[in-house]
Amino acid sequence: MIDTFRTMARTLNNPFVEKWKGSGGKVIGFPCTYLPEEIIHAAGMLPFRFRGVGTTSLSVGDTYFGPVICSFPKCILQLAGEGRYEFLDGAVIVPGCDSMRRLDECWRKAGEDYQGSLPGYFHYFGVPHKVTDYSISWFEEETVIFKESLEQYFDLTITDDAVAEAIGLYNGIRRLLCRMDRLRTGDTVLLSGSDALAVLVAGSAMPRGSYRELLEGTLDSLEREARDISEGRKRLMLVGSVNDDVGFMDVIEDSGGLIVADTLCFGFRSYADLVDESDEPLKALTRRYLQHSYCPRMFGYYKDRLQVLRRRIREARVDGVILQNIRFCDLHGSENGIFERDLEAEGVPCMRIEREYGPLVETGRLKMRIDAFMERLG
Ligand code: SF4
Repeated sequence: MIDTFRTMARTLNNPFVEKWKGSGGKVIGFPCTYLPEEIIHAAGMLPFRFRGVGTTSLSVGDTYFGPVICSFPKCILQLAGEGRYEFLDGAVIVPGCDSMRRLDECWRKAGEDYQGSLPGYFHYFGVPHKVTDYSISWFEEETVIFKESLEQYFDLTITDDAVAEAIGLYNGIRRLLCRMDRLRTGDTVLLSGSDALAVLVAGSAMPRGSYRELLEGTLDSLEREARDISEGRKRLMLVGSVNDDVGFMDVIEDSGGLIVADTLCFGFRSYADLVDESDEPLKALTRRYLQHSYCPRMFGYYKDRLQVLRRRIREARVDGVILQNIRFCDLHGSENGIFERDLEAEGVPCMRIEREYGPLVETGRLKMRIDAFMERLG
């Protein structure tokens, strides 16, 4: 079953999306963990997290973004300009960071030049950078505006019951992902970091009901087989910029490491907190999504994020931390430097690397750095 997830993680489109579209279903793309995607599910549509997988040129991305910016949103725009996102019925842009915010204007402009590259429904979802009473109200308003814009554009109604049902399903998936987390962080490690990433990435691109079933079956079989893969390998934690690339994880794990924990947004950050099912659905959703402050896009929570790292290091008995950032990712690039200073001072070996998102053109250099870090870990 892991192979099914790995195949899906290596491509943009997949058979589940094709089947969904074939039966008349709609697909809405989004880029970031700060969008309450349960709203899309409750509308009867498929939430699909944007990726830049399979990009081989940046001719479109460079034209609109310019060269000095994170390659992740550029790769997304590139694929859109090439028509590879034509299966989308809509897109929601979330300002995870300034590069992502610029995806909104760049995609709109590219849409004028590349026929059919801009989905019919295109919405900007604002997200505050602090958690205060007024910002929670603002976020609630944004969520209502988003819900109403979907209702209006697609001529449908999103009921509270449907939102509550979506919250139940998503919470169920989050619990299963926490169970998968424990299969990595315990004494025996039953799946690699790259396999876990493949499972997570696939889950952001397929109907969530089918995903829950597949995921549960996969965990059952991993637990039944109980095959420990940790023997003789260094236990690592991966921190920093967005990563949906199993190839990048493979490079790290082929060097004798095993990624037993992470704090990435395609990883731990996507499932770490549940939505309160006893609260009024929309309110509960907005609270969960705004208050998970693990991303450096949220201002003033560095100490909280450091605490999360310390807890993960302790729980997963991590030997070393890899702090990576995509080139020009100011948020993770700057925070990684402070993490390195504070964790090294506590005796936790860290390695900081900068990389490009996309084809692993820098594999040789990365491999050399990782090999050197493995030597340091002994
Ligand atoms: S990796 Fe950094 S710059 Fe790129 S989209 Fe994410 S937060 Fe923004």
